[in-house]
Amino acid sequence: MALYAMTGGATGIGGALRQQLTERGHQVISVDIKDGDIIADLSTAEGRQAAIDGIAERAPDGLDGFIACAGLPPVARPLSKIAQVNYFAVVATVEGVKDLVAKRRGSVLIVASNSAPMVSAETPFVEACLAGDEGAACAVVEEADGHTAYAGSKRAITQWMRRNTVAYAKAGVRLNAVAPGITQTPLTDQVFADEALGQTMRDFQASVPWGGMAKPEHIANVMRFLLSEEADFVCGSVYFVDGGSDAMLRSDQF
Ligand code: NAD
Repeated sequence: MALYAMTGGATGIGGALRQQLTERGHQVISVDIKDGDIIADLSTAEGRQAAIDGIAERAPDGLDGFIACAGLPPVARPLSKIAQVNYFAVVATVEGVKDLVAKRRGSVLIVASNSAPMVSAETPFVEACLAGDEGAACAVVEEADGHTAYAGSKRAITQWMRRNTVAYAKAGVRLNAVAPGITQTPLTDQVFADEALGQTMRDFQASVPWGGMAKPEHIANVMRFLLSEEADFVCGSVYFVDGGSDAMLRSDQF
């Protein structure tokens, strides 16, 4: 049976994945701000270090996989928190556990979003993230809106994943991302309840080609596959699990 560590395992997509993995006899070390084996606020450097140290302590012989799932919605404020949790915490924790995952020739899975391609790579916020400048990214994102902050953080982390795939593969770690579409979780509830973004979200939901909304289990099913040995040759991939929305919006790009 495998040993995994993850962030954001308390609710939503992460909660569903944690449940599926434990039901199948795997062990999961869960890091979250509100309910987990390790309680840590990943928006801070101290919280990220506590997460890395806590995982290392519980997995001295290495990890079969690490899942960076914790994330904040576009309605979170201040917007700099979105940059800190959705991008900088992901990079810091993935880098922090890389050697543990390499010990078992394991897999790292990043939870991105199908909103990632909706923001240009030339957006100053995306560029600041990819430059690794947390202070600049947090400053620049405060001048943006919630959509740019959220989708920009997801674009940046997806690009980071692609840029690091080769180095990680050579180190013995398979790096991939899953890009969920609209999924029924507490995060989505917050967006639906928002005066500015709620209607945009309802319109987007109505446009999903396959219809409706994903359940967290739909996303977790694919994540479980990507983490498994059955996906052994999947490396550097971005898996869209979005009912066809990305294909609808960007038919000629893949
Ligand atoms: P969710 O709110 O249920 O889960 C997010 C988790 O992250 C929670 O357990 C929360 O406590 C944790 N978290 C938030 N801030 C944290 C912090 N500072 N430190 C530690 N943990 C923190 O929402 P979800 O929809 O399941 O989101 C999971 C991931 O899926 C996120 O990265 C999100 O961006 C992504 N995603 C969601 C959707 C969707 O429609 N729900 C679509 C695309 C991508």
